[in-house]
Amino acid sequence: MSNKKLFKKILIANRGDVALRILRAAKDLKIPTVSIHSSADNDSMHVKLADESVCIGPAKSSDSYLNMQAIISAALVTGADAIHPGVGFLSENADFAEIVNAHEINFIGPSPEHIKTMGDKVSAKIAAEKAGLPLVPGSKGSISSLNKAEEEALKIGFPVIIKAAAGGGGRGMKVANSMENLSEAFSSARSEAKAAFGDDTVYLEKYLKNPRHIEVQVFADSHGNVVHLGERECSIQRRHQKLLEECPSPILSQSEREKIGKLSANAAKNLGYLGLGTIEYLYENNEFFFIEMNTRLQVEHPITEMVTGLDLVCEQIKIASGQKLSFKQNDIVFNGHAIEFRINAENPNNFLPSPGKIKTFHPPGGPGVRVDSIVYQGYQIPPYYDSLISKLIVFGSDRKNCLSRSERALDEFIIEPIDTSIELHKKLLRNKDIINGAYSIKWLEEIFLPTLNKTYG
Ligand code: ADP
Repeated sequence: MSNKKLFKKILIANRGDVALRILRAAKDLKIPTVSIHSSADNDSMHVKLADESVCIGPAKSSDSYLNMQAIISAALVTGADAIHPGVGFLSENADFAEIVNAHEINFIGPSPEHIKTMGDKVSAKIAAEKAGLPLVPGSKGSISSLNKAEEEALKIGFPVIIKAAAGGGGRGMKVANSMENLSEAFSSARSEAKAAFGDDTVYLEKYLKNPRHIEVQVFADSHGNVVHLGERECSIQRRHQKLLEECPSPILSQSEREKIGKLSANAAKNLGYLGLGTIEYLYENNEFFFIEMNTRLQVEHPITEMVTGLDLVCEQIKIASGQKLSFKQNDIVFNGHAIEFRINAENPNNFLPSPGKIKTFHPPGGPGVRVDSIVYQGYQIPPYYDSLISKLIVFGSDRKNCLSRSERALDEFIIEPIDTSIELHKKLLRNKDIINGAYSIKWLEEIFLPTLNKTYG
């Protein structure tokens, strides 16, 4: 046991379900909390449940949840000695981490240097390779001219994908199937990257035809201890955004699982990484290819919590305060199966957001069911932010048990009158490819949704 003291007060620089999750962890650790919020979030759960709250600006994110000055001032005024950045917003902003540290406030996350290296996909690939991870075949470094892109594409072989170095949220990516469309894909990836990230640096990768997205959770403390917490399968995506995640992956053999786990923990150690991180891979024909590392908590972390019985957010807070990891690799026991269903306030056919006032909210319960939700009866979902409003996480003794409990839980779940992804999840669970675990990152958009639209109009 380490005798380092925990923080006196944590400011949560986020909103939505992740703010609630952090708040709950802080309460479990008996640490007082400060919520920040925009004026559009006055009635949000993360404001209602916090010990203190500070309104830091108007609805627009750039004036509130991305407003570094206002957030730091809120921390100073309330006497918070730590800031948890959550997911999204400023969670992977190296400048923010640096400014927090400069004010002698603890940033609950890795060092600004690690955030910076991993935030640029070109430098992330270089660092990952040095740390021993296998890469998707591609250009060494960025590509600044069409000539160079052509040369690289010939070396890699078509199809290739042109990706933004500063990329995120699936933006700034274009596929070229042949030399004929390389020029157009190259210039449109560059201009999309410039518009979205203010940086038109791009690089080239082999475009994998039917991969799965598998990621490994890693954890490192400041005493040299590093562990992995197994993998998560996140291939059910639309527009490169995850919709359903499961743990363990239905496709990996035990030896593959152990191999990628060890490789990821070793990489985190080689990188000198600190805290919670996720190493993302594409997996095709029994091979793993590193694509990126997220230097923060992931939306889908609860499925790892369900199968390990660990509280990742409490542990993350303890490690940021200088404590040692409370478990070694051999102490981590993987048990059963867990699936997370992201419940978004959106139209299930065209995925357009559907904010509005909630008249009926009835969450499911019973064995194996966890609901992390910001919704309550009478809550008005603001139209300005991410459409994720609830996460349904289901645990079962094995995958079959987890799937049948999931059906039961989704049938009980009522959120009215807005559109949500509950109906889509119910249909997914009736599909034989899902039942068999036979899907790739293309499956939802290329196979499932087209048949659904034919069947359901
Ligand atoms: P972002 O940071 O924008 O999420 P990622 O590099 O993590 O970008 O990629 C997001 C998704 O894009 C992946 O989960 C996968 O679906 C697809 N993708 C990325 N690189 C490739 C590739 N080389 N081949 C095929 N699909 C890819």
